[in-house]
Amino acid sequence: MPSADNSLGFVFCGGGPAALGPVIAAARKGRLDDLLDRGIALVEPGPIGPGGLAHYRISANSLGGPFLECLDGLSDSAPFAALRDLPETRRLRAHSDEHPPLSVVAPFLTRLGAVVSDLLAAHPRCTVVPEAVAAIELADDGVVVTTGSGRELTAERTVIATGGRPLSGFGTAGIVPGLDLLPHRDKVWHSESFIDARKPLPPVRGKAVVVGGSHSAWSVVHLLAPEADEITVIHRSGLRLFYNSPDEARADGYPFDPVLDVCPTNGRVNRYGGLRGRAHELARAALRLPGTGPAPARLVQVTDPAALEAAQRALAEADVIVMANGFEANLPPIHRTDGTPVSAAVGPTGTVVTAQGHLVDVHGTAHPRLLAYGLGAGLAPSAEVGGEPSYTRRADGVWLYQHDIGGIVLDELLHNVTTTGEIHA
Ligand SMILES: Cc1cc2nc3c(=O)[nH]c(=O)nc-3n(C[C@H](O)[C@H](O)[C@H](O)COP(=O)(O)OP(=O)(O)OC[C@H]3O[C@@H](n4cnc5c(N)ncnc54)[C@H](O)[C@@H]3O)c2cc1C
Repeated sequence: MPSADNSLGFVFCGGGPAALGPVIAAARKGRLDDLLDRGIALVEPGPIGPGGLAHYRISANSLGGPFLECLDGLSDSAPFAALRDLPETRRLRAHSDEHPPLSVVAPFLTRLGAVVSDLLAAHPRCTVVPEAVAAIELADDGVVVTTGSGRELTAERTVIATGGRPLSGFGTAGIVPGLDLLPHRDKVWHSESFIDARKPLPPVRGKAVVVGGSHSAWSVVHLLAPEADEITVIHRSGLRLFYNSPDEARADGYPFDPVLDVCPTNGRVNRYGGLRGRAHELARAALRLPGTGPAPARLVQVTDPAALEAAQRALAEADVIVMANGFEANLPPIHRTDGTPVSAAVGPTGTVVTAQGHLVDVHGTAHPRLLAYGLGAGLAPSAEVGGEPSYTRRADGVWLYQHDIGGIVLDELLHNVTTTGEIHA
């Protein structure tokens, strides 16, 4: 069906930081016309640009400066150049060397999104559709994206960047053999419920347990601290802290592997997996590294039977348990032309995609016409995106979407897809 009316190159589902990444990467590389001339429909029911970050009650895990780096290298004539002097930009720039509240980051991303939106609206082959995607049909020769109002958009490929949702089954998940949440499911919440202002805030009192060691986990520790009597953090592997260099990590007394924990591209320690900002400070204090104040939480690393017992006791005694095990992609329903569903594979770190962002289904087939990435479906670190070898989760972050990951997706989009779905450079 798509070949009959194949007027669009791509439908972008979602208009958050991940979806905007390839457009910004194209502008930085001088390839914007190449991309827009292919024809794009961007389908987003809300504001274009900030995505979920507009709703998080926490500070950024990145410094303010990297959010503004997307403006570097764009010529003065580019529409992006006008962003340099806006009040939203100046406010964020004042936090260049600090971790700004996300409420300061979001207005800048909204302005950035408005520029992208205007660019698309002004291009004869592009359009912005202020609706939600209701379904995606995958045919041999293209895709048909149906919006909430029933509008059908036919394209060669679709970019699915509709954010994330809690990994399914989080409330009853196993943490390690012999330790699972099933018996405690009535008091388990996902970290999203505390961080995302769109969700009703769960009641907090008494003893709290946070499961996980990520930014989300430590952000929840910060949010719980004023209310909870006692916080225990149950984690599996050692806490990973970010440092600008091995020397900085050594000076802080932080133990790390000089090969596996160091990014070969830029020499950072725990570049992707390392805690930054407030999460870094809280975890440092919990690890009792030199010069830190009172520990904000008791740590239980479940690596031996004694720790397992302590973890079981903490779970049983807890009034509230917060699971911070991450997200899977919030994909719209996808089906083939004959109605057969295309079910995405989901692993412990989220929805499975290839290094190029091709969605992988439960049968292990990668679909080049369905590009998926962003929260819950980050690309695995590769030579192109760098990262410490010990990092096994997903590369995820605004800077990456606008730079390395945006560049990978852009290259993918500017490849040709034949009618059999194979990609040719
Ligand atoms: C708690 C938390 C804090 C984070 N902090 C940072 C940080 O400080 N710095 C950083 O660089 N990264 C951070 N990240 C990581 C990542 O950069 C953000 O999660 C980012 O918002 C991901 O962008 P996204 O576009 O994938 O998803 P989202 O931001 O969730 O955007 C998805 C977009 O898709 C739209 N959408 C949803 N469903 C549909 C549909 N059916 N049809 C059409 N559109 C749809 C939504 O309206 C939304 O605009 C954080 C992540 C989390 C979870």
